[in-house]
Amino acid sequence: MSIRRIEQTLHQFNKIGYSEDGMNRLAYTKSERKAKELFKELCESENLRVRMDHAGNMIARREGVNPTLPPVLTGSHLDTVINGGKYDGTVGVVAAIELIRRLNEQQIQTNHPIEIISFAAEESSRFGLATIGSKSMAGNFKPRNVENLKDKNGINLEDAFFHAGLNLSQVEEASRKNETIKAFFEVHIEQGPVLEREQLDIGVVTGIAAPTRLKVTVKGKASHSGTTPMDFRNDAFLGASEIGLAVERAAKAEADNGTVATVGDCTIAPGAMNVVPDTAEMKIDIRSVDMESKQKVMKYVKDAIKNVERKRGLSVHSELLTNDEPVILKQHVTSSILQTCEQLSVSYREMASGAGHDAMNMARICPTGLIFIPCRNGLSHHKDEFSSLDAIGIACDVLEKEVLKWALSANRNAIPK
Ligand SMILES: [Zn+2]
Repeated sequence: MSIRRIEQTLHQFNKIGYSEDGMNRLAYTKSERKAKELFKELCESENLRVRMDHAGNMIARREGVNPTLPPVLTGSHLDTVINGGKYDGTVGVVAAIELIRRLNEQQIQTNHPIEIISFAAEESSRFGLATIGSKSMAGNFKPRNVENLKDKNGINLEDAFFHAGLNLSQVEEASRKNETIKAFFEVHIEQGPVLEREQLDIGVVTGIAAPTRLKVTVKGKASHSGTTPMDFRNDAFLGASEIGLAVERAAKAEADNGTVATVGDCTIAPGAMNVVPDTAEMKIDIRSVDMESKQKVMKYVKDAIKNVERKRGLSVHSELLTNDEPVILKQHVTSSILQTCEQLSVSYREMASGAGHDAMNMARICPTGLIFIPCRNGLSHHKDEFSSLDAIGIACDVLEKEVLKWALSANRNAIPK
Protein backbone atom coordinates (compact mmCIF):
# COMPACT_ATOMS: atom_id res chain seq x y z
CA MET A 1 0.00 0.00 0.00
CA SER A 2 2.65 2.44 1.12
CA ILE A 3 4.96 1.42 -1.74
CA ARG A 4 2.20 1.99 -4.30
CA ARG A 5 1.52 5.39 -2.80
CA ILE A 6 5.21 6.32 -2.96
CA GLU A 7 5.34 5.17 -6.58
CA GLN A 8 2.28 7.21 -7.50
CA THR A 9 3.55 10.38 -5.83
CA LEU A 10 6.97 10.05 -7.48
CA HIS A 11 5.22 9.63 -10.80
CA GLN A 12 3.03 12.70 -10.20
CA PHE A 13 6.10 14.87 -9.66
CA ASN A 14 8.01 13.31 -12.55
CA LYS A 15 5.26 14.06 -15.03
CA ILE A 16 6.33 17.67 -14.53
CA GLY A 17 9.33 18.63 -16.65
CA TYR A 18 9.62 15.17 -18.19
CA SER A 19 11.31 14.67 -21.56
CA GLU A 20 12.99 11.72 -23.23
CA ASP A 21 16.36 13.30 -22.49
CA GLY A 22 15.66 13.56 -18.77
CA MET A 23 13.92 15.69 -16.19
CA ASN A 24 14.00 19.47 -16.53
CA ARG A 25 12.75 21.39 -13.55
CA LEU A 26 15.35 24.10 -13.32
CA ALA A 27 15.42 26.51 -10.38
CA TYR A 28 12.77 29.24 -10.45
CA THR A 29 11.27 28.12 -13.76
CA LYS A 30 7.68 27.39 -14.62
CA SER A 31 8.19 23.64 -14.22
CA GLU A 32 9.73 23.99 -10.76
CA ARG A 33 6.79 26.19 -9.87
CA LYS A 34 4.35 23.52 -11.07
CA ALA A 35 6.12 20.96 -8.89
CA LYS A 36 5.79 23.32 -5.92
CA GLU A 37 2.09 23.72 -6.64
CA LEU A 38 1.67 19.95 -6.62
CA PHE A 39 3.60 19.81 -3.33
CA LYS A 40 1.20 22.38 -1.89
CA GLU A 41 -1.84 20.49 -3.12
CA LEU A 42 -0.64 17.15 -1.73
CA CYS A 43 0.25 18.71 1.63
CA GLU A 44 -3.03 20.57 1.94
CA SER A 45 -4.94 17.39 1.32
CA GLU A 46 -3.14 16.02 4.41
CA ASN A 47 -4.31 19.08 6.39
CA LEU A 48 -0.91 20.75 6.54
CA ARG A 49 -0.54 24.52 6.57
CA VAL A 50 1.61 25.45 3.57
CA ARG A 51 3.61 28.59 2.94
CA MET A 52 6.33 29.73 0.59
CA ASP A 53 9.15 31.74 2.14
CA HIS A 54 11.11 34.61 0.54
CA ALA A 55 13.61 32.26 -1.08
CA GLY A 56 10.89 30.13 -2.68
CA ASN A 57 11.20 27.26 -0.19
CA MET A 58 7.87 25.47 0.33
CA ILE A 59 7.19 24.73 3.99
CA ALA A 60 4.25 22.59 5.12
CA ARG A 61 3.54 22.35 8.82
CA ARG A 62 1.81 19.65 10.84
CA GLU A 63 1.03 21.18 14.19
CA GLY A 64 2.30 19.61 17.37
CA VAL A 65 0.44 19.03 20.62
CA ASN A 66 2.63 21.82 21.94
CA PRO A 67 2.97 24.34 19.11
CA THR A 68 5.53 26.36 21.04
CA LEU A 69 8.07 23.53 20.86
CA PRO A 70 10.62 23.83 18.04
CA PRO A 71 9.66 21.93 14.89
CA VAL A 72 11.35 18.84 13.47
CA LEU A 73 12.08 19.42 9.78
CA THR A 74 12.48 17.02 6.89
CA GLY A 75 12.64 17.37 3.12
CA SER A 76 14.83 17.86 0.10
CA HIS A 77 14.45 19.59 -3.30
CA LEU A 78 12.27 19.33 -6.40
CA ASP A 79 14.46 21.24 -8.86
CA THR A 80 16.73 19.26 -11.19
CA VAL A 81 19.82 19.74 -13.32
CA ILE A 82 19.41 19.98 -17.10
CA ASN A 83 18.26 16.53 -18.29
CA GLY A 84 18.45 15.22 -14.74
CA GLY A 85 17.00 12.14 -13.09
CA LYS A 86 13.74 11.29 -11.35
CA TYR A 87 15.15 10.62 -7.88
CA ASP A 88 17.76 13.24 -6.97
CA GLY A 89 15.95 15.49 -4.49
CA THR A 90 12.46 14.32 -5.41
CA VAL A 91 12.85 11.15 -3.35
CA GLY A 92 13.48 13.18 -0.20
CA VAL A 93 10.38 15.30 -0.76
CA VAL A 94 8.24 12.24 -1.50
CA ALA A 95 9.60 10.52 1.66
CA ALA A 96 8.59 13.59 3.68
CA ILE A 97 5.05 13.53 2.26
CA GLU A 98 4.86 9.78 2.90
CA LEU A 99 5.87 10.40 6.52
CA ILE A 100 2.94 12.78 7.03
CA ARG A 101 0.52 10.35 5.37
CA ARG A 102 1.65 7.57 7.68
CA LEU A 103 1.29 9.74 10.78
CA ASN A 104 -2.17 10.89 9.71
CA GLU A 105 -3.22 7.36 8.89
CA GLN A 106 -2.12 6.10 12.31
CA GLN A 107 -3.49 9.27 13.95
CA ILE A 108 -0.17 9.83 15.67
CA GLN A 109 0.10 13.16 17.41
CA THR A 110 3.56 14.51 18.13
CA ASN A 111 4.56 16.99 20.81
CA HIS A 112 6.76 18.91 18.41
CA PRO A 113 5.38 20.31 15.16
CA ILE A 114 6.73 18.64 12.00
CA GLU A 115 7.54 20.72 8.94
CA ILE A 116 8.22 19.19 5.56
CA ILE A 117 10.20 21.24 3.11
CA SER A 118 10.86 21.44 -0.58
CA PHE A 119 13.97 23.62 -0.85
CA ALA A 120 14.28 25.98 -3.80
CA ALA A 121 17.18 25.96 -6.25
CA GLU A 122 19.34 23.21 -4.80
CA GLU A 123 21.08 22.59 -8.12
CA SER A 124 23.52 25.11 -9.54
CA SER A 125 22.57 24.36 -13.15
CA ARG A 126 20.74 27.58 -13.91
CA PHE A 127 22.77 30.36 -12.29
CA GLY A 128 25.90 28.56 -11.12
CA LEU A 129 24.69 28.95 -7.54
CA ALA A 130 23.76 25.85 -5.54
CA THR A 131 21.42 25.46 -2.55
CA ILE A 132 20.00 29.00 -2.66
CA GLY A 133 16.92 27.92 -0.69
CA SER A 134 18.65 26.16 2.19
CA LYS A 135 21.46 28.72 2.31
CA SER A 136 18.82 31.42 2.71
CA MET A 137 17.07 29.47 5.43
CA ALA A 138 20.39 29.09 7.25
CA GLY A 139 20.92 32.87 6.98
CA ASN A 140 23.92 32.32 4.77
CA PHE A 141 22.86 33.75 1.40
CA LYS A 142 23.65 37.32 0.43
CA PRO A 143 21.84 38.53 -2.68
CA ARG A 144 24.28 41.38 -3.30
CA ASN A 145 26.69 40.83 -6.18
CA VAL A 146 24.68 37.90 -7.52
CA GLU A 147 21.52 39.69 -8.69
CA ASN A 148 22.98 40.13 -12.16
CA LEU A 149 24.08 36.53 -12.64
CA LYS A 150 22.46 35.38 -15.86
CA ASP A 151 21.17 32.02 -17.05
CA LYS A 152 21.90 30.85 -20.59
CA ASN A 153 18.86 32.76 -21.90
CA GLY A 154 20.18 36.02 -20.46
CA ILE A 155 17.63 36.16 -17.62
CA ASN A 156 19.22 37.44 -14.43
CA LEU A 157 18.62 36.06 -10.96
CA GLU A 158 16.62 39.09 -9.87
CA ASP A 159 14.18 38.67 -12.78
CA ALA A 160 13.98 34.92 -12.26
CA PHE A 161 12.93 35.60 -8.66
CA PHE A 162 10.37 38.12 -9.89
CA HIS A 163 8.88 35.61 -12.37
CA ALA A 164 8.64 33.08 -9.55
CA GLY A 165 6.57 35.55 -7.52
CA LEU A 166 9.54 36.46 -5.29
CA ASN A 167 11.63 39.51 -4.57
CA LEU A 168 15.39 38.90 -4.41
CA SER A 169 15.92 41.93 -2.18
CA GLN A 170 13.80 40.21 0.50
CA VAL A 171 15.51 36.82 0.31
CA GLU A 172 17.28 37.27 3.64
CA GLU A 173 13.88 37.22 5.35
CA ALA A 174 13.83 33.48 4.71
CA SER A 175 16.51 33.11 7.40
CA ARG A 176 15.60 30.94 10.37
CA LYS A 177 19.00 31.01 12.00
CA ASN A 178 17.78 32.74 15.14
CA GLU A 179 14.93 30.31 15.59
CA THR A 180 15.26 27.04 17.46
CA ILE A 181 14.77 24.06 15.19
CA LYS A 182 14.69 20.68 16.89
CA ALA A 183 16.37 18.81 14.02
CA PHE A 184 16.46 18.39 10.24
CA PHE A 185 16.53 15.12 8.30
CA GLU A 186 17.05 14.62 4.58
CA VAL A 187 16.65 11.44 2.56
CA HIS A 188 18.66 11.49 -0.67
CA ILE A 189 20.02 9.06 -3.24
CA GLU A 190 23.71 8.33 -2.74
CA GLN A 191 24.74 9.47 -6.24
CA GLY A 192 27.71 7.13 -5.92
CA PRO A 193 28.31 3.35 -6.20
CA VAL A 194 29.22 2.34 -2.64
CA LEU A 195 25.88 1.20 -1.13
CA GLU A 196 24.93 -0.80 -4.21
CA ARG A 197 28.37 -2.43 -4.38
CA GLU A 198 28.19 -3.38 -0.71
CA GLN A 199 24.52 -4.37 -0.98
CA LEU A 200 23.46 -2.13 1.87
CA ASP A 201 20.08 -0.46 2.42
CA ILE A 202 21.11 2.80 4.04
CA GLY A 203 24.09 5.13 4.23
CA VAL A 204 24.24 7.27 7.34
CA VAL A 205 26.18 10.35 6.39
CA THR A 206 28.73 11.57 8.92
CA GLY A 207 30.15 14.49 6.97
CA ILE A 208 29.72 16.39 3.74
CA ALA A 209 32.84 17.08 1.73
CA ALA A 210 33.62 20.59 0.59
CA PRO A 211 35.67 21.53 -2.43
CA THR A 212 39.00 23.29 -2.61
CA ARG A 213 39.48 24.52 -6.14
CA LEU A 214 42.53 25.78 -7.95
CA LYS A 215 43.05 27.33 -11.34
CA VAL A 216 46.54 26.54 -12.53
CA THR A 217 48.03 28.31 -15.54
CA VAL A 218 51.23 26.88 -17.00
CA LYS A 219 53.25 29.14 -19.27
CA GLY A 220 55.92 27.82 -21.63
CA LYS A 221 57.13 28.81 -25.08
CA ALA A 222 55.38 28.16 -28.37
CA SER A 223 57.57 26.70 -31.08
CA HIS A 224 57.40 24.71 -34.30
CA SER A 225 56.48 21.08 -33.67
CA GLY A 226 58.69 19.90 -36.50
CA THR A 227 61.83 21.96 -36.08
CA THR A 228 62.19 22.18 -32.28
CA PRO A 229 64.27 19.28 -30.89
CA MET A 230 62.79 17.61 -27.84
CA ASP A 231 65.47 18.99 -25.53
CA PHE A 232 64.75 22.57 -26.55
CA ARG A 233 61.11 22.68 -25.65
CA ASN A 234 59.15 24.39 -22.91
CA ASP A 235 55.91 22.51 -23.47
CA ALA A 236 53.14 23.89 -21.25
CA PHE A 237 50.88 20.87 -21.82
CA LEU A 238 53.47 18.36 -20.62
CA GLY A 239 54.02 20.45 -17.50
CA ALA A 240 50.27 20.48 -16.88
CA SER A 241 50.16 16.71 -17.44
CA GLU A 242 52.79 16.13 -14.77
CA ILE A 243 50.86 18.34 -12.37
CA GLY A 244 47.68 16.38 -13.20
CA LEU A 245 49.38 13.08 -12.37
CA ALA A 246 50.68 14.59 -9.13
CA VAL A 247 47.08 15.50 -8.24
CA GLU A 248 46.12 11.84 -8.69
CA ARG A 249 49.05 10.57 -6.60
CA ALA A 250 48.31 13.05 -3.82
CA ALA A 251 44.63 12.10 -3.63
CA LYS A 252 45.41 8.37 -3.73
CA ALA A 253 47.77 8.80 -0.80
CA GLU A 254 44.85 10.35 1.11
CA ALA A 255 42.27 7.75 0.05
CA ASP A 256 41.85 6.51 3.62
CA ASN A 257 40.53 9.93 4.53
CA GLY A 258 37.99 9.75 1.71
CA THR A 259 39.78 12.47 -0.24
CA VAL A 260 39.33 12.70 -4.01
CA ALA A 261 40.78 15.09 -6.57
CA THR A 262 40.01 15.75 -10.21
CA VAL A 263 41.35 17.78 -13.10
CA GLY A 264 38.03 18.24 -14.86
CA ASP A 265 38.98 21.04 -17.18
CA CYS A 266 42.10 21.75 -19.20
CA THR A 267 42.59 24.01 -22.20
CA ILE A 268 45.72 24.37 -24.30
CA ALA A 269 46.83 27.35 -26.36
CA PRO A 270 47.44 28.09 -29.11
CA GLY A 271 45.80 24.71 -29.69
CA ALA A 272 47.29 23.72 -33.02
CA MET A 273 48.62 20.29 -33.90
CA ASN A 274 51.88 21.70 -35.29
CA VAL A 275 52.72 24.06 -32.42
CA VAL A 276 54.29 23.19 -29.07
CA PRO A 277 51.77 24.73 -26.64
CA ASP A 278 52.81 27.82 -24.70
CA THR A 279 49.84 27.84 -22.30
CA ALA A 280 47.86 25.23 -20.44
CA GLU A 281 45.13 26.21 -18.04
CA MET A 282 43.59 23.58 -15.80
CA LYS A 283 41.08 23.48 -13.00
CA ILE A 284 41.66 21.21 -10.05
CA ASP A 285 38.87 20.13 -7.67
CA ILE A 286 39.91 18.55 -4.36
CA ARG A 287 37.21 17.24 -2.02
CA SER A 288 37.25 15.75 1.42
CA VAL A 289 35.46 15.79 4.74
CA ASP A 290 38.90 16.27 6.28
CA MET A 291 40.33 19.78 5.94
CA GLU A 292 43.81 18.62 6.96
CA SER A 293 43.78 15.96 4.30
CA LYS A 294 42.87 18.54 1.66
CA GLN A 295 45.76 20.67 2.83
CA LYS A 296 48.15 17.74 2.46
CA VAL A 297 47.00 17.26 -1.13
CA MET A 298 47.46 20.99 -1.79
CA LYS A 299 50.98 20.91 -0.40
CA TYR A 300 51.92 17.91 -2.54
CA VAL A 301 50.51 19.58 -5.65
CA LYS A 302 52.34 22.83 -4.90
CA ASP A 303 55.62 20.97 -4.49
CA ALA A 304 54.97 19.20 -7.79
CA ILE A 305 54.35 22.57 -9.45
CA LYS A 306 57.71 23.92 -8.22
CA ASN A 307 59.40 20.81 -9.48
CA VAL A 308 57.77 21.10 -12.91
CA GLU A 309 58.77 24.76 -13.17
CA ARG A 310 62.37 23.95 -12.41
CA LYS A 311 62.66 20.82 -14.49
CA ARG A 312 60.85 22.07 -17.59
CA GLY A 313 61.66 25.78 -17.59
CA LEU A 314 58.00 26.73 -17.24
CA SER A 315 56.30 29.32 -15.10
CA VAL A 316 53.17 28.31 -13.25
CA HIS A 317 50.60 30.57 -11.65
CA SER A 318 48.01 29.08 -9.34
CA GLU A 319 44.92 30.81 -8.07
CA LEU A 320 42.77 29.51 -5.21
CA LEU A 321 39.14 29.68 -6.38
CA THR A 322 37.44 28.23 -3.29
CA ASN A 323 38.55 26.61 -0.09
CA ASP A 324 35.36 25.56 1.69
CA GLU A 325 35.17 23.96 5.11
CA PRO A 326 33.63 20.46 5.14
CA VAL A 327 30.54 19.97 7.27
CA ILE A 328 30.72 17.35 10.01
CA LEU A 329 27.27 16.19 11.11
CA LYS A 330 26.68 16.00 14.85
CA GLN A 331 27.50 12.62 16.25
CA HIS A 332 24.45 12.35 18.48
CA VAL A 333 22.29 12.63 15.35
CA THR A 334 24.21 10.09 13.28
CA SER A 335 24.31 7.61 16.16
CA SER A 336 20.58 8.04 16.63
CA ILE A 337 19.99 7.13 12.96
CA LEU A 338 22.37 4.17 13.25
CA GLN A 339 20.36 2.95 16.21
CA THR A 340 17.13 3.34 14.24
CA CYS A 341 18.63 1.19 11.46
CA GLU A 342 19.52 -1.46 14.04
CA GLN A 343 16.02 -1.41 15.48
CA LEU A 344 14.50 -1.85 12.04
CA SER A 345 17.03 -4.57 11.08
CA VAL A 346 18.08 -2.51 8.10
CA SER A 347 21.63 -2.92 6.77
CA TYR A 348 23.72 0.24 6.83
CA ARG A 349 27.10 1.86 6.92
CA GLU A 350 28.46 5.23 7.88
CA MET A 351 29.82 7.25 5.00
CA ALA A 352 30.86 10.67 3.84
CA SER A 353 29.02 12.56 1.13
CA GLY A 354 31.18 13.72 -1.72
CA ALA A 355 28.43 15.97 -3.10
CA GLY A 356 26.83 19.00 -1.50
CA HIS A 357 23.26 18.86 -0.16
CA ASP A 358 20.71 21.12 1.54
CA ALA A 359 21.60 19.25 4.73
CA MET A 360 25.04 20.91 4.80
CA ASN A 361 23.43 24.33 5.18
CA MET A 362 20.83 23.18 7.69
CA ALA A 363 23.63 21.65 9.77
CA ARG A 364 24.78 25.20 10.51
CA ILE A 365 21.54 26.00 12.35
CA CYS A 366 20.25 22.73 13.80
CA PRO A 367 21.11 19.06 14.50
CA THR A 368 21.03 17.44 11.06
CA GLY A 369 20.89 13.93 9.67
CA LEU A 370 21.41 12.83 6.05
CA ILE A 371 20.18 9.40 5.00
CA PHE A 372 21.41 7.90 1.71
CA ILE A 373 19.77 5.19 -0.34
CA PRO A 374 21.49 3.16 -3.06
CA CYS A 375 21.08 4.09 -6.70
CA ARG A 376 21.84 1.93 -9.71
CA ASN A 377 25.49 2.09 -10.84
CA GLY A 378 25.89 5.22 -8.75
CA LEU A 379 24.46 7.12 -11.70
CA SER A 380 22.96 10.55 -11.05
CA HIS A 381 22.25 13.83 -12.85
CA HIS A 382 21.24 11.62 -15.77
CA LYS A 383 17.97 10.38 -17.26
CA ASP A 384 18.81 6.78 -16.33
CA GLU A 385 19.21 7.59 -12.63
CA PHE A 386 17.33 4.88 -10.69
CA SER A 387 16.56 3.76 -7.15
CA SER A 388 14.18 0.89 -6.46
CA LEU A 389 10.86 1.45 -4.72
CA ASP A 390 11.97 -1.06 -2.09
CA ALA A 391 15.04 1.07 -1.35
CA ILE A 392 12.88 4.18 -1.07
CA GLY A 393 10.39 2.32 1.14
CA ILE A 394 13.16 1.34 3.56
CA ALA A 395 14.33 4.95 3.74
CA CYS A 396 10.74 5.99 4.50
CA ASP A 397 10.65 3.52 7.40
CA VAL A 398 13.93 4.88 8.79
CA LEU A 399 12.79 8.46 8.35
CA GLU A 400 9.45 7.80 10.06
CA LYS A 401 11.00 6.15 13.10
CA GLU A 402 13.77 8.73 13.37
CA VAL A 403 11.56 11.80 13.04
CA LEU A 404 9.12 10.34 15.57
CA LYS A 405 11.92 9.87 18.10
CA TRP A 406 12.63 13.60 17.96
CA ALA A 407 9.07 14.82 17.54
CA LEU A 408 7.56 12.75 20.32
CA SER A 409 10.02 13.90 22.98
CA ALA A 410 8.27 16.12 25.46
CA ASN A 411 10.80 18.80 26.02
CA ARG A 412 12.61 21.36 23.98
CA ASN A 413 16.18 20.18 24.41
CA ALA A 414 15.83 16.46 24.94
CA ILE A 415 18.03 14.35 22.71
CA PRO A 416 16.19 11.14 21.89
CA LYS A 417 17.41 7.90 23.38
ZN1 LIG B 1 20.03 16.54 -4.82
